[in-house]
Amino acid sequence: MQSEEKKDIRILKGCLESAENENMVWVCDGAANVGQVGHDIGILLTNMGKGRMCCTTAVAAGSKPHLEIAEKAKKNIVINGCANRCASKVFEKAGKKIDYEIIISKYLQKVPTLDIYMGDVKKISEIIIKEAQL
Ligand code: SF4
Repeated sequence: MQSEEKKDIRILKGCLESAENENMVWVCDGAANVGQVGHDIGILLTNMGKGRMCCTTAVAAGSKPHLEIAEKAKKNIVINGCANRCASKVFEKAGKKIDYEIIISKYLQKVPTLDIYMGDVKKISEIIIKEAQL
């Protein structure tokens, strides 16, 4: 979610210090509409206080603090753009638990564009909140 307007910046608690009591949200951030909807869902859930978006790529890279965050998390909520399930595969390869996963292309057709709609972000966020009991 980008804004050209300057506004107050909301500083979040560090992932490592909050993981135990947080639903950590891990997105694939894929370069298609479904990946970018997933990215904005991560931001929305964080701003709603339903979870805390963290760095999936860092888990894939073997970053020790991020592996620890994935280990300690209250719940790991893994958001995949499409059936390739890249974010889930990162977790499976790292041997970390997945408490809930979603494949956005089940709800929204995958299209090679980065133009996305907030309506899709909100609609799929509601599904996640309900199914994952956030
Ligand atoms: S799950 Fe799909 S959209 Fe996400 S990174 Fe992988 S290929 Fe791209």
